[in-house]
Amino acid sequence: MVAPETPRDCLFCRIVAGDVPAEIVLAGESTVAFRDLNPQAPTHVLVIPRHHYDNAADLASHDPSGLADMFATAAQVAEREGLSGDYRAVFNTGAGAGQTVFHAHLHVLGGRPLRWPPG
Ligand code: 5GP
Ligand code: ZN
Repeated sequence: MVAPETPRDCLFCRIVAGDVPAEIVLAGESTVAFRDLNPQAPTHVLVIPRHHYDNAADLASHDPSGLADMFATAAQVAEREGLSGDYRAVFNTGAGAGQTVFHAHLHVLGGRPLRWPPG
């Protein structure tokens, strides 16, 4: 697989590079997990691929095993955070669905009762 380019102005690429500080929870071979700056639950961690993909669909079509790594990392984060298997893992895809950072990221939320459906 040819590694995709790293857009110089991408916030999450800069976090992967260590140029922007973040509270890292897990640093794996293909993923990095760090705490969301504006947490929506007691645990709110973002899992991102080290390589840049604009969104989950882009990641899925170019690197399916990388997508699987994201969910495996989410499970490890939940375990470390003591969530007892109760957590929500969410990709917001597209501005209309609330995506504001266009580097694929999986929100891992837990530590409080989570209502369904979400807003
Ligand atoms: P989205 O809205 O794209 O699904 O999620 C982007 C998330 O990134 C938001 O929950 C937002 O709080 C978080 N975020 C934005 N800027 C930063 C930052 O500089 N550092 C960290 N740790 N999180 C950020
Ligand atoms: Zn990026």
